[in-house]
Order: sequence, then structure tokens, then C-alpha cells
Amino acid sequence: MASRTAISVQPGRFRVLKEGRRRSDGAVGPVVYWMFRDQRLRDNWALIHAVDQANRANVPVAVAFNLFDQFLGAKARQLGFMLRGLKQLHREIEENLRIPFFLFQGDADETIPKFLKECGASLLVTDFSPLRKIRRCKEEICERVDDSVTVHEVDAHNIVPAWVASQKLEYSARTIRGKINKMLPEYLIDFPTLQPSSRRWDDTNRSIDWDTLIADILRKGAEVPELGWCKPGESAALDVLMGSENGFLTKRLRNYNADRNNPLKPKGLSGLSPYLHFGQISAQRCALEAHKVRKSYLQAVDAFLEELIVRRELADNYCFYQPHYDSLKGAWEWARKTLMDHASDKREPFYTREQLEKALTADPLWNASQLEMVYHGKMHGFMRMYWAKKILEWTKGPEEALETAIYLNDKYEIDGRDPCGYVGCMWSICGVHDQGWRERLIFGKIRYMNYAGCKRKFDVDGYVAYVKKLVGEVKKRKAETDLDRKPKISAANIYL
Ligand SMILES: Cc1cc2nc3c(=O)[nH]c(=O)nc-3n(C[C@H](O)[C@H](O)[C@H](O)COP(=O)(O)OP(=O)(O)OC[C@H]3O[C@@H](n4cnc5c(N)ncnc54)[C@H](O)[C@@H]3O)c2cc1C
Repeated sequence: MASRTAISVQPGRFRVLKEGRRRSDGAVGPVVYWMFRDQRLRDNWALIHAVDQANRANVPVAVAFNLFDQFLGAKARQLGFMLRGLKQLHREIEENLRIPFFLFQGDADETIPKFLKECGASLLVTDFSPLRKIRRCKEEICERVDDSVTVHEVDAHNIVPAWVASQKLEYSARTIRGKINKMLPEYLIDFPTLQPSSRRWDDTNRSIDWDTLIADILRKGAEVPELGWCKPGESAALDVLMGSENGFLTKRLRNYNADRNNPLKPKGLSGLSPYLHFGQISAQRCALEAHKVRKSYLQAVDAFLEELIVRRELADNYCFYQPHYDSLKGAWEWARKTLMDHASDKREPFYTREQLEKALTADPLWNASQLEMVYHGKMHGFMRMYWAKKILEWTKGPEEALETAIYLNDKYEIDGRDPCGYVGCMWSICGVHDQGWRERLIFGKIRYMNYAGCKRKFDVDGYVAYVKKLVGEVKKRKAETDLDRKPKISAANIYL
């Protein structure tokens, strides 16, 4: 790995989505960074780029965030985590960096162009997401803004920018691994220090009533309450990565390669996915820090980097180049054929979505994983595969199975609505990034998993008992807060 430090953002890290024309009076307006996926101040290439561009043009810079009315079914659990992180970010960016932070509500394709017009911006910087809704939104924004506005998209999420890693839909980890590794010396480099903005934004009244906003989304999304164990924000994320008490790299890394497939050892995983999903930590920072301890824990670090870099960036590759990333149409031809060949195989047992959601199946292991997701908000990675594959086995057909898996995943997982989630469901149910296996009923050639296999791998009864205890504690805590005659909204709506 190179220990180079960038001076500013490498040309490959950003794309020009729209080139603005020079204004007739030659004037250059401010730079606005529309923050969406990378909600952090540290180690954020999009912010670095926005400030750098503003300083070069000697104009002010601002950060804007748009809170969609509905974003892929997010509930209190996910929105609470996000807004609490943004509240901290707002304070820090204005106090420490003196960059103004604007919060809008509604559709970004309306609020962002309106804001650009009001402040006379010349450059819009956005971070990168391969998800359909955001890409459409950016297309709309490019259509709606003035001719003179330039739009840059910066991949601040992947270590190797998605469009650099590969220019096509990759077949599997095997086909993308070499391409990513080849580019790592160029892209896995130290971050430059974020420069102060050289021109101040004219002071405007932009106070944000975070507490009312958070109370409002907690009320609207109360069906899936917040989690008490997962602290939001950049500092909390760094603590999970390398805190002195229980940090992943400092205290829990040693047995990662062995323990990561044991659902009874949830602490054996990094626990970084909520922070990576909301961009409260940069994957590049995680990789840089992991490299520093590689000599001592070679196998563990290499296994971690395979997940963090190759598998995660493969998920972005899939969603970026496959428009049907969340439907059967996105499966490879062999997988679609085998699934359709077996679509009318008898399902025995058969469960409705409601039975699945309430964990009412005859399989105690599956029920435990579903309850771990509903109550704890983060199902163990190994169980996610078993969980999704059983949905294929027990529902009407592959299309319904995929829809149900994505619906439940996005509703309850704190890290849901992520390319890794869509690809995880597509891998389990539609064989994406996998190969064909021995043909069998319902699954066809899709890889099969069963209870007996899990029993051979880990202590299934122990996991069921662990989840039962977890759920019991959450229910007890909820009953206690419900007893409170005047419960505070933040306490009443929190799961342990
Ligand atoms: C059916 C199914 C659904 C899934 N849903 C999601 C989801 O909604 N959101 C999500 O982030 N991940 C999802 N995954 C991938 C994976 O299970 C989680 O990323 C992991 O369990 C998160 O926990 P961790 O960060 O403690 O894991 P660690 O093992 O510590 O991994 C570190 C990081 O590597 C990446 N990673 C790990 N495993 C994978 C993988 N299989 N594919 C791609 N990247 C990976 C993630 O960014 C993760 O945070 C899903 C997998 C399956 C099979």
C-alpha cells in the first residue's frame, strides 16, 4: 500500500455530470455540496473536492442535505440514526470549519435547484450512489439547473471509484478482485487535511430545530423503533473501528476470519455496516487503519479487507451497471432459467409475508434470525444468507421471495437500503455473483443451505437461546418505559 497523501482529489475520483457554460458577466458563484450518502466531515472526498474547488475560484462553499419525505421505506430506526448523526455534523461543520449547513425537506430534484438559484451557485458537487432513485434525481437536477451550473459527482464511498474499478457489470468477486487490487496503490492513499474555506458565506438565518424534526420522524416511523446499542455519528463510528475499549481493530480483530461465520459471536464482526451505510465512516479510513495492523494479524486483516473492499465494491458495481439490481430480471440467464424451471415446485411448508414478518415458521433457527433483525436491528451476516434462502424455499416463487426479503431487510436492518443488501438478497435467492450447484427442488441450481448444515457449523440451540434472551431484554426495557406515565419520545421508542 502506498503511503502517499493526495493534495487534492484525483481526476478519476470525480465525474462531470454537467458542464456549465461561462456566465456572460464572467462572474463565478459559490460551490454547493449536496451531501447524500457520505454523511461525514472527516475523510470525505466530496467535501474535500467542494472546498478545494471553492478556494481555487475564491468563492464560498456550503453543504446542503435533503431529507426526502419517504426514502425506500426508512423508519424511525434508520432515520433517527441518520438525523442524530447529522445533528452532530451540523454543529461541527459550522463551529470548526465555518462552512454553513442547509437542511431541506421534500424532493431533492426541487429543493437543490431552487437553492442553487437562490445563492447563484456555479458548481454543485454531489457524492455517489448507484441507487436508482438518486441517479434519477441527479439527472433531474442537471436538467433543472441554470445552463451556467456545473455538476460534479465524487465517489467518496468506494476506495477505488466505481467507474474506475470497472467499466462493466462484473460477474463475480473473482472477476473484479484483480481490477480493484491493481488500482489500490493509486487510490488507497492518505487523505489530505481539509483546508479551511477561504471565503465566508454571507450570514443567513439557518438554525435547524433538530429536536422537533427527530421527534417528528420518530412518531411517523414508530413501527420500527430506534436502537439503543448503536450510537450514531462520526466519533462513535471511529470508536467502533479503533476505540481503546472495544474497537474492532484494537480489541476484536484477532479471530475475525474464524469467528465471522459464528452467529453466536456477533462481536467477532466489525459492526461497521451502519456507519458505512450512512457514510459516517469512510471505508478508506477503515482500510488504511487495518493495513497498519496487518503484520500482526495477517489472516484476519486480509479476510476483513476482502469483505470491506472487494465484496462491498462489487455490490456497488452490480447496482451501478445492472438497472434491475432488485428484481429477478437482474439475475444471470442460467439462474433465471433454473428458478423459472422450478417456480411451480410445491412449497412445503408455505408461509405468507405476515407469518414470516412475525417469525411464525416451524423453524426455530429461522425465527431467531428474523427476531434478531426485528428487535436488535442487525442480523448476523452468516444468518442473513440462511434467512434469505429459506424465504425462497417457503414462498410462492422467486419473485415473491426476493420482494419479501428486500422488504423485510430494508424495513428492519439498520444498514438496510444499501447496495450490499440488494446484492445479498440477489446472491441468496438469484445466485448473483455465485455459480450453479447441484440441481434440486425449488432452488434449481441456486446454492442451497439447510438447518443440518448450520448445526454442523455452529451451536444452533445456543444462537436460538441468545436471541431469546436478547428479545426478552428488549421487551422488558420497553415495558418499563411504557409504564412511565409521561414517556419521553426518545426513551419510549428505543429498542435495546
Ligand atoms: C440476505 C443478505 C442481506 C444483506 N443485507 C445487507 C444490508 O442491508 N446492508 C449491508 O451493509 N450489508 C448487507 N449484507 C452483507 C453483510 O451481511 C453485512 O454487510 C454484514 O453482516 C454487516 O456486518 P459487519 O459490518 O459487522 O460485517 P463485517 O464482516 O465486519 O464486514 C465489514 C464490512 O464489509 C462489507 N461486507 C461484509 N460482508 C459483505 C457482503 N457479503 N457483501 C458486501 N459487503 C460485505 C460491509 O460493508 C461490512 O460492513 C447482506 C447479506 C445478505 C446475505
